[in-house]
Amino acid sequence: MGMSGYTANGVIEMAKKKVTSVPTSLKFPILDIPKEGFHLHCDVGQDDLLLTSDEGRIVDSLHLDCDVCHSPDGVCVKGTLSGTIIRECVRCLGEYLEMMVLPCLGLFQGEQTKIESATVVLDEEFPDVGFEQIEDIYPCQDGLIELDLMLREQFILETPIQRLCQPDCRGLCQQCGTNLNQSSCDCADTVNFSPMVAALQQLKKHL
Ligand SMILES: [Zn+2]
Ligand SMILES: [Zn+2]
Repeated sequence: MGMSGYTANGVIEMAKKKVTSVPTSLKFPILDIPKEGFHLHCDVGQDDLLLTSDEGRIVDSLHLDCDVCHSPDGVCVKGTLSGTIIRECVRCLGEYLEMMVLPCLGLFQGEQTKIESATVVLDEEFPDVGFEQIEDIYPCQDGLIELDLMLREQFILETPIQRLCQPDCRGLCQQCGTNLNQSSCDCADTVNFSPMVAALQQLKKHL
């Protein structure tokens, strides 16, 4: 029993020290943010972002991973929103999956501190972040941070207008609706032999 002297006491002591109740959802009072800031990770669903299926359908849920900290100009949020989205191709109307890792950055400000943008110096807690020029400013109404509003806006701005299942999607045949990625049709040939084209060719001969 060489290892029986091991106890987990040290680990438990450390765990006790770390227990503080920090927010775990997308909306939380500014007063709940600890002085030193905190790391938030939580699931984000279709309803949280009020997304229509045109804007994208979330598979299961997205995952938000972000740092929330106080700065002289407001509450700074920086992180990523990641997961899988089902999108509809604008050419062939087929559905395809998109893996998304969306960087999110924003500053929440109360009514007293209305400014256009801010350079926030994040402290040594976030050494990889450093200086940030933040242009996305969100209101902090009734002392509440509403991350869902920020995430919705940044998600929609990132949604491509030309959503394609593949860069060279061949789309649907205008005549018969065949998905030209999957099979071909005779419509293009038929056009050449249509009565209209034949008549024009006849006419040309006589000119
Ligand atoms: Zn397509
Ligand atoms: Zn066709």
